[in-house]
Amino acid sequence: MHSSNGYAALDAQSSLAPFSFNRREPGATEIAVEVLYCGVCHSALHLVRNEWGNSIYPMVPGHEIVGRVVAVGSKVTKFKAGGIAAIGVIVDSCRQCSPCKNGEEQYCDEGATLTYAAKDRVDGTITMGGYASNYVVDERFAHHVPANLELSAVAPLLCAGITTYSPLRHWKVGPGMKVGIVGLGGLGHMALKFAHSFGAHTVQFTTNLRKRDDALRLGVDEVVLSTDAAAMKDHFKSFDFILDCAAAPHSLDPYTALLKQDATMCLVGLPEKFPVVNVGNLIFKRSALAGSMIGGMPETQEMLDYCGAHNITADVEVISIQKINEAYERMLRQDVKYRFVIDLSSLK
Ligand SMILES: [Zn+2]
Ligand SMILES: [Zn+2]
Repeated sequence: MHSSNGYAALDAQSSLAPFSFNRREPGATEIAVEVLYCGVCHSALHLVRNEWGNSIYPMVPGHEIVGRVVAVGSKVTKFKAGGIAAIGVIVDSCRQCSPCKNGEEQYCDEGATLTYAAKDRVDGTITMGGYASNYVVDERFAHHVPANLELSAVAPLLCAGITTYSPLRHWKVGPGMKVGIVGLGGLGHMALKFAHSFGAHTVQFTTNLRKRDDALRLGVDEVVLSTDAAAMKDHFKSFDFILDCAAAPHSLDPYTALLKQDATMCLVGLPEKFPVVNVGNLIFKRSALAGSMIGGMPETQEMLDYCGAHNITADVEVISIQKINEAYERMLRQDVKYRFVIDLSSLK
């Protein structure tokens, strides 16, 4: 057993607090990593506070993990002790169904195993995430990190990065396209960087004019204040693709009105309450409303390699683990540019 220490929520009401537990020795195809950095994803806030009603405690959150490999099983081929490995939102799946065979494990027919607060397929325990000193994972669900990238700024790529990269690739965003990004937070700032890097004319929608300069600095071509009806009207039926990264409840209709004929708007943020949509905005233009969830293992590696080649990482604020509860409060106030990342060396 590997003893592990981290921070856990013991119930929906308490703050995160120090917590010790054990992880299994890595099996034949598994690796053990010492966690170096772990991103603070907004979804952890919902899960820690049981806002989706299915939380399991004690809960060690964290699914944006970058670590150093400290042990490898006898059949591991991808990693060696001493190397760097990254782990994202899922750590296992049935590996037999059609999505799994196609490398889209996130859509596993049986449901992929989440990195924390889920039942482990190997030993039946509850998975504990990356706000901890170590992690044990099958090498199929771990990724290589390009050597030129700053590791703390890589961590958020494992959730916020792949969640936005995958739909932008699926809908073939590239030069000659006009692409809208709704929301400028952890997900939105990565969507903006990717859409711009893929060569699309990229438009950032925001409700907060104070974010305009920041969006321009991050590479966006235009910023539109979504509360400005006249500005929105100027973009009527002009978008080839819109990626909606906002998790807070909001109407989709002002954005579907901006889609061209046959264009798609894709949602990646899961709101607590599902919106009612103006179906006319879709029918009269044969436009589509779609959803997307993270990415499969091959595509996650592709995304990391792309980031290495194009020098793309997240904008992060590195914190000690002792600041995690304060960071949650600041996230609720949108007081972060654009992702907190825990430096796990602060555990010692
Ligand atoms: Zn996440
Ligand atoms: Zn499967």
